[in-house]
Order: sequence, then C-alpha cells, then structure tokens
Amino acid sequence: MTTTATSAAASQVRRPDPEAAASGLRIGGLTRLTTIDYPGELAAVVFCHGCPWRCRYCHNGHLLDALDRQLLLPWSEVRDFLRQRRGLLDAVVFSGGEPTLQGALAAAMAETRELGYRIGLHTAGPAPERLARLLPLIDWVALDIKGLPEDYAAITGVPGSGERAWDSLRLLLDSGLPHEVRTTLMPDWNAAKVAQLAHRLADAGVRHYSLQSCDPSHALDPHLERAPQPLAELAAAIQSARFARLTLRGH
Ligand code: SF4
Repeated sequence: MTTTATSAAASQVRRPDPEAAASGLRIGGLTRLTTIDYPGELAAVVFCHGCPWRCRYCHNGHLLDALDRQLLLPWSEVRDFLRQRRGLLDAVVFSGGEPTLQGALAAAMAETRELGYRIGLHTAGPAPERLARLLPLIDWVALDIKGLPEDYAAITGVPGSGERAWDSLRLLLDSGLPHEVRTTLMPDWNAAKVAQLAHRLADAGVRHYSLQSCDPSHALDPHLERAPQPLAELAAAIQSARFARLTLRGH
C-alpha cells in the first residue's frame, strides 16, 4: 500500500460517521411546531431523555428515569421529519430532561444545522465543560438558574449543583450568545429573596430574564404547594434590576 493510500485509509478509520453518532441520542418526545420555545422563530422541540437532578417542581418526570429503549423516539425519525420541514420551520430546540449530558447531542446539532435550522438549547447547566464544547454549535440558549448557588441542593437534591449551574451561566454570558435566563420561583420565596437573586443575575450580565411561577400540579414533590403571593407582586420587587427584557410566566 502506498503512503497516500495508507493515510487515506487511516483518516477513514478515524473519522466517525456523524449520522451514526447522532443516532445514539435518547429522545423522549418531539413537539413538531411551536411559536413560544425559540424567540421569533417557528421551531420544533426535541425532548432529550435523562437528567442528573430531581427538582422538586419538575414536570418532566417521564423524561428522568431509565426508559425501555422501545419507548424512545429514534433520531432517524426526527431527522426524516426535519428533512421534510426544511423551509417551513426555522429552528430546532434541544430540550429535556437535560440534553447536554448526552454524548450524541453535538452530532445531532451538527446534522440539524447542516439541514439549515437554527439551533436552540434549553439547559439547566449541570455540565459546564460539556456546555463549553456545545456553544459553538448553538444560536440561542435558555438557561435555568434555579436560585443562588447555595439554594440549589434544597431544590435539585444534589449538592454542588448550584456551582455548576452558575459556572454554566458565566460561560454563556462570556460567549455573547443570545440568551434567556429563567427562574421558577419556589413557593416559599418572598419578594426580598426574588430581588436578591434578580440583582445578582443582572450584575452578572444577564439581559433577558424570565420569572415563572411554580405550578405544583404534576410536580415531582407531591408536597409542594402553590405560592401564596402572586407572581406580579413578587416581580414588582425587581423592577430596578437592569434587564433589557423581563418576562413573567404564570400567575
Ligand atoms: S433540571 Fe429540569 S429536567 Fe432536570 S429535574 Fe430539574 S426541572 Fe426536571
């Protein structure tokens, strides 16, 4: 074999098949059209399976635990759908569960981008080192910040989760990517608590912020109760925080 033939063969061995890599993505569901999950774009949402945290207010319990592979949606079906919708949809959002923990996510994003779609990511930021590698593939990120770092363990059940999420926030802000930071308010938080968090986020450089009320129906923690104070009242306490856009979701 000549040197040229040898290196050509070696490069064939080294280069992974991107379609095969993406096919390892564990997908629990697909929303085929949404106008609210990627700002200003018609999007599909791919719900990735699995998450290392167990937030008390999580509504996606069906995406957290081990699933029979038969119940997962194959990436090949999602890919076929996206090929058919070229020109009709603008963006694909990878959500969850927690998408960034899946090794196949980068390949799925790269394939999706090659099909002409913008890429959105919904993440809680549990793996900043993985997020750093994914950011160059992404056009817009919605990052959950569940509280101050010291609040996290009581919400997620996982010590150290807050530090990882805030490291992810720093990476996102440093990247300059368009973003929305989101907080679901724990029912026992008062206005002073909400204001403290909002000011810390504004000082860190968050420009688009969203507050969401906690809906205890279908939450992982059956003892969670509805907040006594309306969301608008709590949000009034943060009007002085310097966000370019503040969105309220819920009551
Ligand atoms: S990080 Fe998100 S998906 Fe994971 S448990 Fe918390 S709310 Fe659910």
